[in-house]
Parts: sequence; structure tokens; C-alpha cells
Amino acid sequence: MKDSILAALIVILFWAALPFLCTGVVGGPPQGESAAPAADARPTDPQATDTPDEAWDSNAPASNPAAPAPEAADGFDARFRLPVLRGSEIESMDLHTYLTGVLLAEMPSSFEDEAKKAQAVASRTYCLRSYLHRRHDGAAVCVNSGCCQGWRDPSAAAPEDRARAEAAVTATDGLVIRYQGALIDATFFSCSGGQTESAAAVWGSDLPYLQAVESPGEEGATHFSDETRIPLDDFRAALAEQDGAVSFPEALGGWVGAVTYTPGGGVDRMELGGRPFSGTWLRKRFGLRSTVFTLELTAEEAVFTTKGYGHRVGMSQYGADAMARAGNRFTEILKWYYQGVTVEAY
Ligand SMILES: [Zn+2]
Repeated sequence: MKDSILAALIVILFWAALPFLCTGVVGGPPQGESAAPAADARPTDPQATDTPDEAWDSNAPASNPAAPAPEAADGFDARFRLPVLRGSEIESMDLHTYLTGVLLAEMPSSFEDEAKKAQAVASRTYCLRSYLHRRHDGAAVCVNSGCCQGWRDPSAAAPEDRARAEAAVTATDGLVIRYQGALIDATFFSCSGGQTESAAAVWGSDLPYLQAVESPGEEGATHFSDETRIPLDDFRAALAEQDGAVSFPEALGGWVGAVTYTPGGGVDRMELGGRPFSGTWLRKRFGLRSTVFTLELTAEEAVFTTKGYGHRVGMSQYGADAMARAGNRFTEILKWYYQGVTVEAY
């Protein structure tokens, strides 16, 4: 009991000390599960720049003044038309409605308001970046959470949930995240397991704002820790199929060799049957929640114990909620998970 109180205190102290730890962070007073949190908000092209294709851009800058407006009805989001792919149809949706639906689909309604605002800004940044680069032919984004961002029709949501999601969108109207002037690839995920991952470790391309950072306070997350059990024969066959040179000695103790780790604590490479396998491949092949895992072999099974859920690059949603509970504002949350960025009007 005493240990858990101490752990909670450490988490609160860690997040409460953030304004003193990071530069450029705005200080502020503390503010105040129907949807599943995102497992993996997908990466977009890391090389993409901020230059719009003019023929594509129907939202001319003149009709979208940069200054954020406090009221949803006449703000930037209400005026910006976003072509959204729903099924096989492209629907022209105002950004306010789109982002409200994204919040309802991507973040549990029980989360703190400041976490919701951080999510709204990240999701706005994501879709505007997609808008500039035609993620989908003829549409900026689709409503599939495995591809772009999930979306739930706000008119079908419980009025209270809708009101809270809408309030977070309105409070951050028109705000986006930039790094050296360009919209960032605002990736996010459900739960880091205690530390996020660098983009380089997962996607191979280093992005200065997507680095591994600590993310305490996620212990209450649905998938903070999980177990995945694979029948030993299947495990062995999958490895042999991937690399014909694997060789497994009779004693199980000789199956697992050296393990190297990423900056964010994930498995970078694990030697199995005398051959190296990447953590990202193992995660994908065996359906692991994340690349932060330990492996135990029994006579019948390969047992993976994972921490966290998702690719772990960018903003942790459960971490954002923990930061909000410790009194951080959405700008502080964003500047923690996306290092060296600015939060400003589009
Ligand atoms: Zn998509």
C-alpha cells in the first residue's frame, strides 16, 4: 500500500515539475470509456513538407484567416472544409465536426479536458498535413483508425460525451503543431508502458521532434501490461519461415541469444535460434501489443509479456491523461511528447 502511494507521488511530482524541465513551456493552473484509445496512429510520409498542391487546395488562405476564434460557429475549424473518405464516398466535412468525431472515436470520454485538447491539436495537425499531401486520392483522410484517424458521428454520441469533445475542439480552434515552421507528423498511440519510442527506432527515419521520452503514470491503462502466448511449434515454424538459417538446440535455454534495445526501451533485435530478428517484426508477426517485451519459453509455449500498446512514437494518450491530472495544460503535454515544437494558429 505504501509503495503504491509513493509511486503515485513520484508520478505527480514528475509531471508537476515539467514546466521547470522543458524550455518554452507555458505554465498554467490545473484544469480539469466509451471509445477505445488508439493503438497505432499511423505515420505519414516523414519526408513530406508543408507545401500545398494549389489545384488541390480548395480552402484558400484568404477564406481561412490564421487567427483562432473562440466561438465554434465562426472559427477556423467551422470554415475549413475537409474531404473525408467514408466507405466509398468522399464527404466534405467542416473541420470542427470532423475533429469532434475523431475525439469521440480515438480517446476515452473519461479522459481529462487538457488531454482531450492535446488530442484535438494533434489530430488537427495530422489531418491538415494529410490535406496538403493527399493522403487519399481525392480525400485528405479516411475514417479508419488503422489508416488515418478513427471517426464517430457526433450526432450518434451521448450528448455529454459530444459536448466535452466539442469543447476541446472549440478551445483549441485552428491550433496546430509545427517544428521549424512545418506541420509535424503528429503520431499518437494508446499507452507507452512508461517510455515512448523514437521514430528512428520504429520507422527508420529520425525526426528531431519524435524522440524517446519518459511517460510515467500510465499504470491504470487497459493494456499497460499484457501477455501473448504462442504454441511453441507455431513460434518455431514462424521463425524458420522468416529465416531458413535458424537452428534450435534441444535445450530451450539455447533458443534465445543476445538482445539489444531501442532508446525507448523496446526490443531492437533479439537473437532466436542463432539468427537476429527485429522487435518490430516480432511484434507484427506474433500480434504483440508493443515492442517492449520479455520472452519466456516453456515446453508448450512462447510467452511474451509486453508493456504499452501501440507503436509508442509521439503522444501517449494515457500519458497525456496522467499529465493533465498532474495539472499540465495541453500545450505542455504536446511540447513534452513532441520535442522542440511550437503550438500556434494554422
Ligand atoms: Zn486513411
